[in-house]
Amino acid sequence: MELINQAPELTITEGKPILKWGEAIYPIPRLKHGALFLMVNQLAVQLRFCEYRIHLDFTKGRVIGNEAIDGLYEHARQFGNITDEFSLEPGWDPVVVNRGEEGVSFFNMRMRNWIGKADFTKPYVEERSVMVLIKNVPILGLPDLIINRDGKPWLIIELKTTNRAGRLGFLEPREAYQVEAYYHFLRMMGLGVEGALVVKLIRGIGVKVVDYVDALIKAFINGVNYSRLSNGVAVHLVRVRDASEFMRETEWAVDYWLGSRNATASPSPGKCRVCDHKLHCPYSLSR
Ligand code: SF4
Repeated sequence: MELINQAPELTITEGKPILKWGEAIYPIPRLKHGALFLMVNQLAVQLRFCEYRIHLDFTKGRVIGNEAIDGLYEHARQFGNITDEFSLEPGWDPVVVNRGEEGVSFFNMRMRNWIGKADFTKPYVEERSVMVLIKNVPILGLPDLIINRDGKPWLIIELKTTNRAGRLGFLEPREAYQVEAYYHFLRMMGLGVEGALVVKLIRGIGVKVVDYVDALIKAFINGVNYSRLSNGVAVHLVRVRDASEFMRETEWAVDYWLGSRNATASPSPGKCRVCDHKLHCPYSLSR
């Protein structure tokens, strides 16, 4: 796909959001909450945690807790990225990353790391931006690590950090969706990646996920669902669904943003207990 060589660019022209991609110009449909594009991590929460939570995140803001901040710092330490683009004050924050001028700037800044500019002859590449259009809606993904083979992307890896050793063995459904989305997006972009892994790592133990590249390759080749790679590092192999099943579910999520339907709630005592909105959500099972 020749477009892979060119990074998309988001602009607002005469008040209308437009995506320029190579010679092509795509008007972006009007989305709920003034969003200009969607992000894979939001879709993961929407589809595998609770869609109503995303609805409330955008209408009421969300809580940035210490754990989220620690996670951002650990990612920065792992991949040397910028943390000052985030609001790092704990407390209630508006969700602004994908709307308005801030959304335009965030999107275009991420395109500096566009996947098409990566050198796949290296053993691995870190933090590359991917994007596909689904129902003309740009969906941005920020996979953490791609291991290459024969000059092509081969394994896609998402890093999730935690402060509890007991969480290493638990793959959350939204984590699995996230890496599965990256897998399918890369294939849609003509980059035939073959496997999807989630690495779980305890924050602050002083190791880097790239130190485990050989162990990750071995885990994938052995086809083991879960392996502990060291005291604070574990890997989960994600079984990806076929592309049509993945797309059916993702298009259903996009329909919410296009205004075709209202948000649905998926309350459960466990989910509501850890949800930022448990005190004001009308569907909450935990007050
Ligand atoms: S409180 Fe429960 S039902 Fe309400 S948004 Fe959160 S997880 Fe969903």
